[in-house]
Amino acid sequence: MEKEKLQKEIRDLKEKNDVTILAHYYQTLDIQEIADYLGDSLGLSRTAKEKANTKYVIFSGVLFMAETASILNQDKHVLIPNKYACCPLADFLTADKVIAFKRKYPGLPVVTYVNSTAAVKAVSDICCTSSNSINIVNKISKEFGVDSVLFGPDSNLGDYVSQNTDVNVIKMPKNGHCVTHSRLSLKDLKSTKKENPDSVILVHPECVRDVREFADYVGSTAGMYKYVKNSKDSETKFIIGTEKGLLDRLSVDFPDKELILAKKSLICKNMKKNSLERIYDMLYNLDDEEYEVKVPSDIAEKALLPIEKMLKYS
Ligand code: SF4
Repeated sequence: MEKEKLQKEIRDLKEKNDVTILAHYYQTLDIQEIADYLGDSLGLSRTAKEKANTKYVIFSGVLFMAETASILNQDKHVLIPNKYACCPLADFLTADKVIAFKRKYPGLPVVTYVNSTAAVKAVSDICCTSSNSINIVNKISKEFGVDSVLFGPDSNLGDYVSQNTDVNVIKMPKNGHCVTHSRLSLKDLKSTKKENPDSVILVHPECVRDVREFADYVGSTAGMYKYVKNSKDSETKFIIGTEKGLLDRLSVDFPDKELILAKKSLICKNMKKNSLERIYDMLYNLDDEEYEVKVPSDIAEKALLPIEKMLKYS
């Protein structure tokens, strides 16, 4: 079926079946176009709780995102187009590893990036996203009256937080990283900048330190979006150091700006495991357990606390 026809069918089925579709900025443009809400992980976590007032919520993103939506909406059916769309970064940390760190550093708060499993969240004190991580670490260290926190699983985000706070960030584990963002090296970025000397460089905090330090702006996907939206007329060219989906969105929304991907391979294979065809099939099989993401209630209840705390502190 051609794209426009498929999108129309999806919109009709969505209305008929009481469905909300949430899509992350890293989804392909054709999925972004049919979403009711588009955003980054913090924005979509809030939306799942506050605005997704339908029986079914489809989360077109990776598994930890759908898990977070399920934890926040235990009365709704949360579905993901492809359960194999996982996040390798989340897999760097298990609940057992967190418990071992807590034993080694008693009294320190555990801050986990939302890119973590529900089981890890369930043994955490607070969650954070790339946009609120500095604020959250500052607040939780004050609340606990300590100058160190346990932080995982992204070591680059942890490093970024430690550079921007007076808090000692103990990484759980030392080498957790996003395979997509870590692909961008300083050499790559310098070479893209050399080809585009009059450009502004925006990168994600999941990038390695020397890449972040070479950039003009470091921020979440929502932060980068806002930067381009509010940019001066003189800023016409941007190098985007995050997953290609954001560049696709920016290119549509700001056609007068020139957007360049910092490196051609900044594509998250897992985010791209969802497709319009899969969403269409799901809409005919909404009660099929192949799609439903249900976090066991004992884990969901515990994981809800650090997520709600994050939302309160953000
Ligand atoms: Fe995980 Fe990185 Fe892909 Fe995001 S871009 S889902 S952090 S692997």
